[in-house]
Amino acid sequence: MKTIELSSVLTAGKAFTAKVEADSKVNVRSCYQCGKCSAGCPAAYAMDYAPHQVIRMVQLGLEDRVLSSHAIWLCASCENCITRCPRDVDLPALMDTLRRAAYKKGTVAEKNVALFNNLFLQSVETYGRPHEMSMMMRYNMKSGQLMKDVFRGPELMKRGKMSLRPEKIRDNGAVRRIFGRVRASSGGEQL
Ligand code: SF4
Ligand code: SF4
Repeated sequence: MKTIELSSVLTAGKAFTAKVEADSKVNVRSCYQCGKCSAGCPAAYAMDYAPHQVIRMVQLGLEDRVLSSHAIWLCASCENCITRCPRDVDLPALMDTLRRAAYKKGTVAEKNVALFNNLFLQSVETYGRPHEMSMMMRYNMKSGQLMKDVFRGPELMKRGKMSLRPEKIRDNGAVRRIFGRVRASSGGEQL
């Protein structure tokens, strides 16, 4: 019996859903849209799509729409949703995968969040732990907000929460090797 292809859009959508499932190891089809994740999400109020809608878009293969959404960048990976989900859908892992896909596709809706992520990872790779001072200076310069939070600096330094010099960990090479392995396993992709 011959199969009938409904439309090329549907086929492309299916491929997107399958790729996201394979990359994230999350079975999005097990979500039955009860909405418990969105009800308990502390960041949902700021999102353009609630978390259960993000999953629905992946289920339907709406690649362009989900990868250009703000919601995937506003997820704080707090894991509240996964503790509430009756179907054990790992939303934070799904959000991570969608952020990487948006980065690759050049459809990042929250550019400053992506910039902050990158600078944080670069700092950890360089020093073995984040160095807030250099990270924030670079963030302010690159995001064009030169004076952002600069007046908090002295108080944070006085309380020992921020230092001028980075503190390196004992075996910084081990951290760099981890970054190298992750990069190699993802085909040299941006982390
Ligand atoms: S709580 Fe789980 S099953 Fe319910 S909508 Fe969210 S992800 Fe889907
Ligand atoms: S992990 Fe993300 S989607 Fe889940 S509750 Fe936290 S902020 Fe919301």
